[in-house]
Amino acid sequence: MTTRVYLDNAATTPVDKQVLACMMDTMEKNYGNPSSTHSAGQEAKTVIENVRRQIAKVLNAQPSEIIFTSCGTESNNMIIHSCVDHLEVKRIITSPLEHKCVAEAIRDTKMRKGVEVVYLRPDKMGVLSLTDLEDLLKSSDKKTLISLMHANNEVGNLLDLKKVSQLAQQYNALFHSDTVQTIGHLPLDLTDIPLDFASCSAHKFHGPKGSGFAFIRKTSRLKPYILGGPQERELRAGTENVAGIAGLGKAFELAYDNLETYSKHISEIKNYAIQQLKDSIPGVTFNGLSGDLNSSLYTVLSVLLPFKNPLIGLQLDMKGIAISQGSACSAGASKPSIVLMMLLDDHELENSTPLRVSFSHLTTKEEIDYFVQAVKEISSSSSLIENADAIHR
Ligand code: PLP
Repeated sequence: MTTRVYLDNAATTPVDKQVLACMMDTMEKNYGNPSSTHSAGQEAKTVIENVRRQIAKVLNAQPSEIIFTSCGTESNNMIIHSCVDHLEVKRIITSPLEHKCVAEAIRDTKMRKGVEVVYLRPDKMGVLSLTDLEDLLKSSDKKTLISLMHANNEVGNLLDLKKVSQLAQQYNALFHSDTVQTIGHLPLDLTDIPLDFASCSAHKFHGPKGSGFAFIRKTSRLKPYILGGPQERELRAGTENVAGIAGLGKAFELAYDNLETYSKHISEIKNYAIQQLKDSIPGVTFNGLSGDLNSSLYTVLSVLLPFKNPLIGLQLDMKGIAISQGSACSAGASKPSIVLMMLLDDHELENSTPLRVSFSHLTTKEEIDYFVQAVKEISSSSSLIENADAIHR
């Protein structure tokens, strides 16, 4: 059998078998339209409302504040656009490290609605200054939305949600956090952390693709972004994805019931990967805060290899290893992502190779050994090629 080592869990995770069984069962039995008043419809509606209550309980929120959507991208777009369209937001404070779905939605509000967009500049480790944030909040009377992600999907840097929420409250701003990489992996108490909006995607914690939710604080009075029927507390029209919601609920339950065990195992795996890489690849470093287990998400490790090899993703794939290169590839040419361009200097960009390795509770030390050995082999052939290049130049 061919080896398959999956180390791209920040992109998506394999669906848990229990999630799959729950979805199959729901599809088979709860096929009614949740808006229908007959029993078949009401049974499907009950599935949805049970998941809503279950999620709200874990996050310490009201059930009516959980709005099911098709994914993290939709949740983030819905929140950002609705804040501008219906809550009279005239200024957005964000950072250049946000996921594309947040960055593009914000750019769109600037282009189409003339919203003022202000970017907090990260330092070389990708850390944002909360003093700068406070100065910006003080500097204008415009209705402001802060949009800053909880954990960066490329380097794993974590934001102090509580401090930012408190600043938002102090200066009467709204606070949206893209929590797609952290819901299902970190505890979140939405009573203790008074943020206004958050987003979740089931496929990041062994749930199905095409299912997520937006947390929308009741007091925010957001209006719908997708128009039509009165589904989802009149905030998101469209016949609900009942099986997807059931799968999200099952994945959410498994993630939070096993949070301690899973996070302990994954943190150990991450630590092991850091040690093995340091021992085997002299000069390896880690981007942003990802090498520091206390200030970064335990599922993500952003590696900087001390040699240039744009083909490494392909070479690892040929050995059965799935990783992300932390780069956007177009027409065969790979160029570093915006996040890495912010964090790395020209010399590093020219002479090194980034890799994003991301783990789940299914990742084993043997898989890390196989991955590190493969990188080591590629690294020696890359140095040979670099040396040969130098001779022929
Ligand atoms: N936000 C972050 C931080 C992500 O990592 C992702 C997915 O990669 C998204 C948003 C988009 O989520 P989805 O794939 O559910 O649209």
